[in-house]
This record gives sequence, structure tokens and C-alpha cells, in this order.
Amino acid sequence: MSESLYSWGRYPDKPQRGHAASWRDDLPDLLAEVSKSHTSTLPYGNGRSYGDSCLSTSNHVLQMRSLDRFIKVDWQLGTVCAEAGVTLAEILTLAIPQGWFLSVTPGTQFATLGGAIANDVHGKNHHLRGTFGRHVLGFGLLRDREVWTCSATENAHLYGATIGGLGLTGVITWACIQLIPICASQINSTVVRFDNLKEFFSLSAELDHRHEYSVAWIDCLAKGESIGRGVFIVGDHAGYGALNVDKRNKLNVPLIPPLSLINNLSLRAFNHTYWHAHPSQRKQVRSGYEPFFYPLDRILQWNRVYGPRGFQQYQCVIPDSAAEVAMREILGAIADAGQGSFLAVLKRCGDIESPGLLSFPLPGTSLALDFPQKQGLLPLFLYLDRIVHEAGGRLYPAKDAHMSGVDFRRAYPAWEQLEALRDPSLNSHFWKRVTE
Ligand SMILES: Cc1cc2nc3c(=O)[nH]c(=O)nc-3n(C[C@H](O)[C@H](O)[C@H](O)COP(=O)(O)OP(=O)(O)OC[C@H]3O[C@@H](n4cnc5c(N)ncnc54)[C@H](O)[C@@H]3O)c2cc1C
Repeated sequence: MSESLYSWGRYPDKPQRGHAASWRDDLPDLLAEVSKSHTSTLPYGNGRSYGDSCLSTSNHVLQMRSLDRFIKVDWQLGTVCAEAGVTLAEILTLAIPQGWFLSVTPGTQFATLGGAIANDVHGKNHHLRGTFGRHVLGFGLLRDREVWTCSATENAHLYGATIGGLGLTGVITWACIQLIPICASQINSTVVRFDNLKEFFSLSAELDHRHEYSVAWIDCLAKGESIGRGVFIVGDHAGYGALNVDKRNKLNVPLIPPLSLINNLSLRAFNHTYWHAHPSQRKQVRSGYEPFFYPLDRILQWNRVYGPRGFQQYQCVIPDSAAEVAMREILGAIADAGQGSFLAVLKRCGDIESPGLLSFPLPGTSLALDFPQKQGLLPLFLYLDRIVHEAGGRLYPAKDAHMSGVDFRRAYPAWEQLEALRDPSLNSHFWKRVTE
């Protein structure tokens, strides 16, 4: 029997049994069979979602990774059509030597094409290019035993509902995306540390619009005057240089340790050292694209360091009008609780609309950070939820394992349109939790 599948946070503990098709033509029978035998199913990409949105209510999923063939590429126009199980890393391996890069990439290259569309993922250039869905030219959607071609002009209702549609409208079998041209695979970045949240907002206002990419790392344990201190990074594709695919060997966490290796002591030491290691004056750095976009991908299965109980990520976005005040409150509460992890990421999102019905970003500031799963986490999350709610913000379903149905339905009023278009044979633990 194949190994059980989990979400990236390994929480909630709902192991999934995978059912794979070798060929696209086999998918209609497989979908019908699995959903009939187990009452429901769900497409599963590469399990890089943290919470329960990639977990089927029946605990039987359609494993899409085996559908990993390229269908058509056009290096004049920079378009790629591929099966939905192809990963972003596989696309980059092909596209970079030809002088093309993903228009939008999340912080992992191990997401699949189907998964990136279904969560309408965003990256460090949201302020310039919006979400992944904006660069999707079209895709095939299997539902009712037929594959529907969907684009902005063909079956547009299914196109909009499937982008950010959490795998509920059907199975994406293939997709075509638009890439952006690059001259080199390196990234030129400017790095500077900042002392508090106010400085983050002024750096962001000054620098974001001048650079393709912008992101900040935050020390979530800093308190008082130092709340929100961190390291600000902006970057652009280099104007000259080689077009090299990064092929450095990856490290691996081979086993799940019996206890989480992340605790307050290790966290405090890491955050302190990291912040001090960065320059107080702006510094120019040239690096490969992997360390810039995907620092965590270097360590395969790093999620295991959180031990058998796993972890949750909390990602919210707060509208511009309330962002600074609400972020101060949120970061203050996290620091007071002494919880949180190495990975607090702060980023301003822009106002480019997504074609997706249930897309997460809105014009404002997004915060994402990981928390080891333990008692006492839920009360903290509920406290943070109240701040997010009052500030008019929302949480990201791709990362979520706790949001209340009331909060979800208020924050995503288009959920009923998605529910109306949901393929009844597909359902996730997330969707059941927030809509029933
Ligand atoms: C280290 C790390 C960094 C990350 N950084 C970011 C970031 O910067 N921005 C961001 O937005 N996200 C980020 N993510 C989240 C990740 O990019 C998304 O969760 C992505 O959707 C995962 O893709 P997947 O292929 O693993 O899909 P899964 O996690 O397996 O599934 C995700 C959703 O897609 C659906 N799905 C998968 N395949 C198909 C298909 N063929 N047809 C229809 N539906 C399908 C599933 O049903 C599920 O609802 C990060 C994750 C990690 C681990």
C-alpha cells in the first residue's frame, strides 16, 4: 500500500490515501470510481498547503503528481502548457535556459500547476503582477465526465470559480500559463534591517514600486519599541549573466523527531542572530534565484522538525487603512504569548484584481508565520482572529486549519457562488468545516 499523504503542517492528523492516474484519459473513470466507493474525493497536488484544504472529507484523494508531462511550449511568446501535476520547479528547469521565468511564484517551487491555480497563489511581486491566476491563459477542467476548456472567454464562470476554487469545481487536468522574460537567472537584491513596524511601512512605501519583488522577515518575539523589527528585501531579475538552473543538492530531514525541535529557546536565539547578522545600511546582494525565492526548499521535508504533532501557519491580510495598527496588535499578542516561529513574513499586497472568485490577497499587508501545534494555540489564534475581523481582514484558506465558518463566510462573501458550482463528488475537510 502506498504511503499516507498529509498536508504540509501535518495538522490536522487526517492521513489520506492517494489514488493516481497514469494518463489524463484515465482520470474520468478514476474520479467516478473513487468518489463512488468513498462518497467524495479531492484532487491533491503536492501537499504544500498547510492545513486541511487539500484533505478530502473521505480521506481518499486523487494524486495528481503522476500527470507531469509538458504538452506545448512556445519560447517566442513565453507560454507553457502542461499537465496539472507538473511542479513549478519542473517548469523553471525548462524555462530558465530559454530566458523565461514564472510570472508569479510562491515561496516553494514544489507546488504543482494545479495546486497553484486552485489556491491562486501569490508571491513577492503581488504589488506588480497580482496573483498566479492572472497569468493562467486557460486550463482543462474535468467535471461531469467531460473536460471543459476554461479561459477568460470560454466557460468563464468555471475559469473564475476554479482559480482559488480550492479544488472543488473539478479536476484541472492541464493548464497553460504566461511566463515573463528574464536576461539572467540571478537576482539583484537590496537588503537592510529595520528597527520596528513603522520603518517597515516607510521602506515599503519608498521601495516596493521600484522593484519587481519585495518582502520582509519579522522577528515575531521582539517587543515594545522593537515590535515588528526585521529585514527588508527587494529584488529584481539581473540584467545580465548566465541562465542557469539551480542544481545544488538538497538536504533532508530523514525522520520525524519524537518532539518538536522548535521551542522558545531555539527560536529566540535564531531570531536574535538573524536580525543582527543583517546590515543596518542598505547592501546590494547578487544571488541565484533559489536562495532568493525558495530558501526553505533547500531542506527537503523541513516540516518534520515540528515533530509528530505538526504545526499550523497563521496567514492574514489586513486592508491598508488598518494595517499598521492591526499588525502592531497582532505582533504584540504573538510576542506576549512567546509563540511563533522563524518564519514570520510581512508583505504589502497590491490592488491588482484576480480573476478568481475566492482569491485571498487584498490591497493591504499580509503576515504569515508558523506555530508548533500545542495546547494554548487556539486561544491565541482566536484572539488574533478578532483583530483581523475588526480590521476588515481575512485569513488564507491554503494555510488554515482553524478558521471559524462565520469568519470565513464574512470574509469571502462569494463562497456561495463557489458552492453552487462545486462538483458534488469533491469536498475537503476545510470546506466542510467552514460552510456547514
Ligand atoms: C515553504 C512554503 C512556502 C509557501 N509560500 C507561499 C507563498 O508565498 N504564497 C502562496 O500563495 N502560497 C505559498 N505556499 C502555499 C502553497 O504554494 C500552496 O498551498 C499551493 O497551492 C500548494 O500546491 P500543491 O500542488 O502542493 O497543492 P495541494 O497543497 O496538494 O493542494 C492545494 C489545493 O489545490 C487543489 N488541487 C491540487 N491539484 C489540483 C488539480 N489538478 N485540480 C484541481 N485542484 C487541485 C487541492 O484540492 C487543494 O485544494 C507555500 C507553501 C510552502 C510549503
